[in-house]
Amino acid sequence: MDIFDGHIHINSDTPMEESVKGFEYRFKANGYKKYAFLSLPQNSDGDGIFSKIETVNKTSNVKALFYKLYFSPNAYAYAGLEHDLSMSDEERADNLLRQAKLYMSVGFDGIKMLEGKPSNRYAVKTPYNSKVFFKFYKFMEENGYPITMHNADPASFWDKSKMSPETIEHGWYADDTLPTKQQMHDEVEDVLSHFPRLKLSMAHCGFMGDEPKRAEKFVTYENTFFDVTPGPEQFYFMYNNQKFWQKMFDKYPDKFRFGSDTYNDPLDKCKAHPEYIGAKICLDFFARNTTTEFGGNVWRSMTQSEEFLKKLLYENSAKLLGEPKEINKDFILEKASLCKSIYADIPSVIKDMEFIESFTKSH
Ligand SMILES: [Zn+2]
Repeated sequence: MDIFDGHIHINSDTPMEESVKGFEYRFKANGYKKYAFLSLPQNSDGDGIFSKIETVNKTSNVKALFYKLYFSPNAYAYAGLEHDLSMSDEERADNLLRQAKLYMSVGFDGIKMLEGKPSNRYAVKTPYNSKVFFKFYKFMEENGYPITMHNADPASFWDKSKMSPETIEHGWYADDTLPTKQQMHDEVEDVLSHFPRLKLSMAHCGFMGDEPKRAEKFVTYENTFFDVTPGPEQFYFMYNNQKFWQKMFDKYPDKFRFGSDTYNDPLDKCKAHPEYIGAKICLDFFARNTTTEFGGNVWRSMTQSEEFLKKLLYENSAKLLGEPKEINKDFILEKASLCKSIYADIPSVIKDMEFIESFTKSH
């Protein structure tokens, strides 16, 4: 069955020249026909030089667009917004709108938002339903451009005693300076009440696996989608509320999109694990008849019909994204050169940008 992977990350420290080989290997090994690369200028779990959530990584967008170029014509790219908190709210609103207009004019196919993940919320400090985002949403809605949004996290991330040491280490604990998970859901519902036609995919099922009422409301909007990228615990919740979720799959087969959460890993890691864990958990749940154990939870597959799987794995994303937007190579070259001057003292960035420049000039 053809697969369209709508959720691929590019922010690990693997050099780009090797990253493309790793992706090439994985796409082939897993039969992925199309792929969307997501940029995270403010990354929550990167390592190395951009590990601090407060640091805006100016290389992220140009890298995402470059991966799209490299894997054209089968690839898509989502840009991420770069926040400047020294601006006033009005200036920020105009700045985000300006960014979105630029990104969507140079070949990006959508915008990825991570601002509502607790770790990022600490840094960006801006609720999704803040007026700061309204001009941006209006532009995206009017033009029918897609957004993939990460909002909140599993409920357990608000309770340190229920978290693993690794997730705490990542900075994913949501302390009481942040809104509750329920308030975060309310914020996104508020966004949709203002922009009901927004093409909005919620990553990790919007962490609504255990929120049937919210899931049922979310799905009634015209252009909303569940991006089923694990969140493994979401499948555990679905398994434990099978009657409800089977009804959702049956009634709304056009609303679910596949994603793997794959990162740009070194080639030897890709060879050792061709199927990324996120893809495995997802495919095990929907397409295979098996038992999964993850994070202390155990669940069985909810195997779906071939018709549903075709939509989940390929057609819904293909329909949402259509033909990839045309790439402006001058933008890539301009940004690569800018990054070389901003990060002149970081050899790995210089090497990546030189790789981008030489490939872009010769293709
Ligand atoms: Zn992700």
